[in-house]
Amino acid sequence: MHAGQRQPRVISCERERSVTENYSINTKSRRITTEPYYLSSGNEIRLFEASYDARLPVMLKGPTGCGKTRFVEYMAYRLERPLITISCHEDLFASDLLGRYLLLQEETVWVDGPLTQAVRMGAICYLDEIVEARKDTTVVIHPLSDNRRILSIDKKGETLKAHSDFMLVISYNPGYQSVLKDLKQSTRQRFVAMPFAYPPLDNETQIVAHEGQINVNTAKRLVGFAHRIRNIREHGLAEGASTRLLIYAAQLMNRGIPEREACEMAICQPLTDDEKIQETLVELVADIFYDA
Ligand code: ADP
Repeated sequence: MHAGQRQPRVISCERERSVTENYSINTKSRRITTEPYYLSSGNEIRLFEASYDARLPVMLKGPTGCGKTRFVEYMAYRLERPLITISCHEDLFASDLLGRYLLLQEETVWVDGPLTQAVRMGAICYLDEIVEARKDTTVVIHPLSDNRRILSIDKKGETLKAHSDFMLVISYNPGYQSVLKDLKQSTRQRFVAMPFAYPPLDNETQIVAHEGQINVNTAKRLVGFAHRIRNIREHGLAEGASTRLLIYAAQLMNRGIPEREACEMAICQPLTDDEKIQETLVELVADIFYDA
């Protein structure tokens, strides 16, 4: 390691999964080898394909747990591109994306970070929750997300021209907006943007039934519960119940947890610490699963 350099930290910014319940990813080639389950709600597939064809960077806007990540995974499979996903967090520096020098058996070697790997191999690079990352990361992605399509690795004195298949995708939750964590116009205006919302009722029912392996009637009730919660948001909840939480509840039910208990554990408790709102949510559960 060079003198004065930051000690390399072990970071867990990349999701590495060899197998999920739904599909598998080859961790070396970063190719998704079986089709991820994705239920489309509009023309988002067509829009993404056109953006990819034009090599435009894409911003997915929407609440947490509504299907943005699954969509990118599905599109990477469909377009037959490797996918590198980076979950951004407040300790994510530009150097974590670019790479670093490491001391290996008395030799200093450069190790590419996930963004550099994606740029070299022509992968789709998905920066999940970009506003959470350190501000210096935007400096790195700007020249990549305009017509220059270059990545500057200062520490190596190298400027990389992105592989012709490389694509940058970021996600952003407008619900978390604050002055400190807003995306600057100079960043926003480098992307085309696709709004994401919770899937329409019938679709969400199908998704919850499929992913949670429960019957459609119970899934319908869960989605009905979520809609009631989403409607009472103005009473103090920061965000509605996500599709992800509904699937968690379904997965608990599938393992024999009674419906009301599953809802309280997977939906009511994660959503808020406010006792009053909690009471309202529990009453809603009892109202919907009255016969459980
Ligand atoms: P986000 O990235 O928006 O936070 P995810 O993509 O992780 O959310 O979605 C949470 C879960 O919801 C997924 O793992 C998947 O099981 C399910 N899901 C949401 N939308 C869809 C969809 N349109 N088709 C299939 N599954 C979906």
